[in-house]
Formats: sequence, C-alpha cells, structure tokens
Amino acid sequence: MPVYRAPVQDSLFLLNDVLGVERYANLPGFANATPDMIEAVLTEAGKFCEEVLFPINQSGDLEGCTRHDDGSVTTPKGFKEAYDAYCEAGWTLLTQPEEFGGQGLPHVVGFPVEEYRMAANQAFAMYPGLTQAAVAAILVKGSEEQKALYAPKMISGEWGGTMNLTEPHCGTDLGLIRTRAVPNGDGSYDVSGTKIFISSGEHDLTANIIHLVLAKTPDAPDSVKGISLFIVPKFLVGEDGSLGEHNALQCGSIEHKMGIHANSTCVMNYDGAKGWMVGEENKGLAAMFVMMNAARLGVGIQGLGQADIAFQNAVRYAQDRRQGRALTGPQDPQEKADPLFVHPDVRRMLMDAKATVEGLRALCLWGALQVDLAHVAETEEERQQADDLVSLLTPVIKGYGTDKGYDVATNAQQVFGGHGYIEEWGMSQYVRDARITMIYEGANGVQAMDLVGRKLAQNGGRAIQAFFAIIDTECARAKDNEALADFSGRLEKANGELKAATMWFMQNGMANPNNIGAGAHHYMHIMGIVALGSMWLMMAEAAQKALAEGRGNKAFLEAKLVTARHFGERFLPDAGSLRRKIEAGSEAMMALTPEQFYAA
Ligand SMILES: Cc1cc2nc3c(=O)[nH]c(=O)nc-3n(C[C@H](O)[C@H](O)[C@H](O)COP(=O)(O)OP(=O)(O)OC[C@H]3O[C@@H](n4cnc5c(N)ncnc54)[C@H](O)[C@@H]3O)c2cc1C
Repeated sequence: MPVYRAPVQDSLFLLNDVLGVERYANLPGFANATPDMIEAVLTEAGKFCEEVLFPINQSGDLEGCTRHDDGSVTTPKGFKEAYDAYCEAGWTLLTQPEEFGGQGLPHVVGFPVEEYRMAANQAFAMYPGLTQAAVAAILVKGSEEQKALYAPKMISGEWGGTMNLTEPHCGTDLGLIRTRAVPNGDGSYDVSGTKIFISSGEHDLTANIIHLVLAKTPDAPDSVKGISLFIVPKFLVGEDGSLGEHNALQCGSIEHKMGIHANSTCVMNYDGAKGWMVGEENKGLAAMFVMMNAARLGVGIQGLGQADIAFQNAVRYAQDRRQGRALTGPQDPQEKADPLFVHPDVRRMLMDAKATVEGLRALCLWGALQVDLAHVAETEEERQQADDLVSLLTPVIKGYGTDKGYDVATNAQQVFGGHGYIEEWGMSQYVRDARITMIYEGANGVQAMDLVGRKLAQNGGRAIQAFFAIIDTECARAKDNEALADFSGRLEKANGELKAATMWFMQNGMANPNNIGAGAHHYMHIMGIVALGSMWLMMAEAAQKALAEGRGNKAFLEAKLVTARHFGERFLPDAGSLRRKIEAGSEAMMALTPEQFYAA
C-alpha cells in the first residue's frame, strides 16, 4: 500500500534557511508569519493531508465521480466529509485577505500547504484550488458589490468556483469562443453556450458553485479582443447572499479520463443562464489571466506534488525489495539478494528524482515569495523586479515543473518494475494524475511559446536581464567557496548557454518565426535547469552554513550537499545540448508535407 509523509522538514529548511522569510517581518502579512507559527501551520497541514486526504486518494481514483439523471454529480465516498473538515479547520483561509474573512498570511507560507494537499490527493485539492483561483479574479477585477457578495463565502469554502474557457472547437485559441452573453438591460446577461472539460463543474461538496465564464457580447469583435468574463452562479444569489432558484445551466456529462478520476470534469451547458460581467467589456481575457496565472503556479505545484509522492514510495520500495547483488559484491550476505537500493541504475532514478523534487520545491517557494514581494515589498523598484521575475518564471514553473514532475513519477514507477504497473501499489495513479498537469492551464508547448514569444521581449527584456544578473551574482559569490566552486562553474556555464540561446533567438527569430517555435520548448527547459541550479546553489550554501553553525539535522543537511553535486553533474550539462538543438533552427522540423510524415 502506498504511503505519504508531508515534507515539513524540507519546507521549513527552505523558508527559514534558504529564503530567510523572517527578514521580511516588516512587510504586511509577514509579521504574523513567525518561524514558530509557520512550523505549527505546516505540521498541522501535513497531518491533515496525511490522515484525512491521503486515505481517500486511491479509493477516490477507483470509484470516480457519478453523474445522476438530473445533472447532479456525487463525489467519491469520504470526499464530502473530508471537504467539510478541510473548511472547518480553516485551510481555505490561509492566504486570503483578512477583510473577506481570510488569515492574510503570505503566499510563501500557503504554497507548502498547497503542495501537501496536491501530493496527498490531487483530485480533491482541485476543488478548493479552483475556488481559490476564481476568488483571485473576482478580488482583482470584480466590482465592490461582487467582491462583497461572492468572496467571503468562496473564501470560507461554503461556495465553490470554476473557470470556463474551453469549448469543443476551442482550446488554446480562445478567440474562437462561441458562447454568447446577451444583455438584459438590468445589468445582467443571458449566457448561452457549451463549455467542456470544466474541472469541478458540478459536485456535492458546496452549497453553490460560482462559475466564471468567458463569452462574447452580441457586438463584440469575433476574436480574443471580443471576450468578456461573467460570473454565472449555479444558484442565483440574493442581495443578502441567500440562495435563490437554480440558474439555467447544467452538467451535461462527466468525462471518462486517464486520471484525477475523483475530480468531476464536466461538459457544462449554459442555456440563457443569468450572468454578471466581471471587469470591463471585451477585457475578459485579461481578467481571466489573473485566475490563470494563479492556476498555472498551482499546476506547477501539482507536478511537484505527484513527483514527491511517487518518489517517496519508490525510495521505500527500493529498500524493501530484494533482487540481485551489488556490483561491488553482496551487501547483505546473510540474505539471498540485496535490496534494489544497491544498484546504480536504481540510484540514478532516485537521485534524479530527489534533485528534481527538492529543486522544484525550492523554485515554487521562491516563486511564491516573488508573488508576495510583487504586492508588498517596500519600494516600487523591488515590487517591479519581483513582478517581472514571477511573470518570467511562471511558464517555467508550470511547463518545466510539470514535464519534470511527470518524468519523476514515471521513473519512480520504473523502480517498482512490473509492480509499478499494478494499480494496488498506487504508482500508476501518480503517473496518470501527473499527466494532466502537462496539458491543462495551457499545454506545455504553449507555456514555452509564452516564455519565448512574449515574456523575453517584454519591457525591452528587463526580466530576463534581471534573471541573468541574479545568476551571475550568485555564481560570483560562490566562486571563492571551495566546496561549491565546481558547482558554481557549471551553473555559470549553463547560464552562458541560456544567454547564447537568447541571443540566437534575437538574431534568428525575426527572419523566421518558426525558429522561435522550434526552439521554445528546449529554451524553457534550459531556463528550468538554470533556475533549479540557482536553487541548488542557494540550498547548498544554506546547508553549509547550518552545518558550520552546528544547527539542524546533520544527515538532512549533508544530503543537500550531495544532491546539489548530483544536480551539477547530471542536470546542468544538459543546457549545452539543448542550446545546440535550438541553434539547429526549424528547417528540417518544418520541411516535410503531411503525406511525407507517414507513408503506409
Ligand atoms: C482533465 C481536464 C481538465 C480541464 N479543466 C479545465 C477547466 O477547468 N477549464 C477550462 O476552461 N478548461 C479545462 N481544460 C481544458 C484544457 O485547458 C485544454 O485541454 C488545453 O488548454 C488545451 O486545449 P485543447 O485540448 O483544445 O488542445 P489544442 O488547443 O487543440 O492543442 C493541441 C496541441 O497543439 C498545441 N498547440 C495548439 N496551439 C498551439 C500554438 N499556437 N502554438 C504551439 N502549440 C500549439 C498544444 O500545445 C497541444 O499540444 C481541462 C482539460 C482536461 C483534459
């Protein structure tokens, strides 16, 4: 049977020793986040995820959701009770603004909690996760009335939230949206159309569901410039917040899909449903982007969560299962065979997983800190830099993070041999659940294009220049540190490959835009490698310092130094080969006709 242990020790190391969250105590929200408080929150959250969410992960996967003839949907056994307990314990409130009933803690404290719940039960975590993203859009773009009416009950978890973009003929290309919103003359609109693949679209966990729906008004341009955003509640809401009649919307069916079976993925039919515009007409995509950016970071954490739980179980299995003998001679001569753990190829998979999981965890938390600083840092310059960095790194956290999260999950499954393919062990579920993270919230190829096609050039390249400078400064600082000189040299080289690839795009992208498209995914991965390299350098420095001061868990800290070395030796060199792929351009990639692709 699979197990899950929340990585509280690693989260605390990152928050306290690597990011030094305490030094931000003067900033709004951070004052309450004392080390003791953070430890108490993470310990309790870890316990909740281990004891309440994880035990219904495998059973939820087996049972899935059920749609009834009246369009209602029942979640698997135990989900409703777990959701009620989740809300009662206040886990929905952590990072939400105090004026709407939240606790106002920084995102950097909320992110580890999000990771634990994603790892313990991704399908469950998506219900509150989407609500959180929907609230973010309402709080940023909604009117004062909308905020007052919807935010408190969504923040408390009494009501759920969804995001409705996708239609049968329209996924990545949202300009194709056909859903219509016709004004009624009283401030409301009649919304009609079909949305597909809507996560948490209908379920039995909350008293109401607030759908955020993209649609076009009658005279709007038929492109991305004509999209508006609407609040369309499942039950109409009175001015006092009371629930009225069922709106003209229904879940038409639920998808039978590869993973996250316990999350209801719905076809939603809107048939003149009453809706209210959020923000300005034709500016709906910008409003939805508030939600999508929050959700993209959340999906990066999903990739991390699935990688972590798969990795944990693989480490355990590799110690229990005995096959063959160590290449250097029997390790356990009294037994008939040694544990899998002795084989270098098994170690390769486990070390790669450890380096990736802990590196991604650091990057996600660093990203969360930038989200906080973008809002509350002391100076305009600091806020600007944090905003630039999080905007640049969001497609990397989502795209690289979930590509690598899936790799880790499949390699962890590989450690189990044939048993990994058998459902009982749980590994198959982690691989299946991890797979969707590479697809939704903008498929990873689209993330790569967002990074290279949009983010690099924004504000004259201000963000990427700041990123290069940060890495250069870190490498220069570590050069005199004997134990880290080799690592910092390798990181500097990888950063050089990233700079060269950036320059190559500048010189070869304008003449032929296919050169950008052909190299974008590789570029996103070089940037992921460099970003994780920077995290490993910071972690190694923090571990060294703690060891020198005699603080902390010695074995844990020494393992950080060895894993940093592994990352330097096995991951950073890949930046060079990825750069060479980029520089190959797009000619061969784009040359064949469809007929030449496959000749039967
Ligand atoms: C389980 C699940 C849950 C989902 N939840 C939601 C939800 O809650 N709300 C919601 O609105 N949607 C949701 N989606 C939809 C999801 O976001 C889309 O599937 C995704 O955005 C891709 O759209 P598509 O499937 O139409 O693929 P397409 O847009 O047809 O793309 C197919 C492939 O082509 C590539 N591609 C397309 N255009 C480009 C381009 N311009 N440049 C480079 N590559 C390109 C893509 O990367 C992809 O690999 C969900 C999907 C699933 C499967």
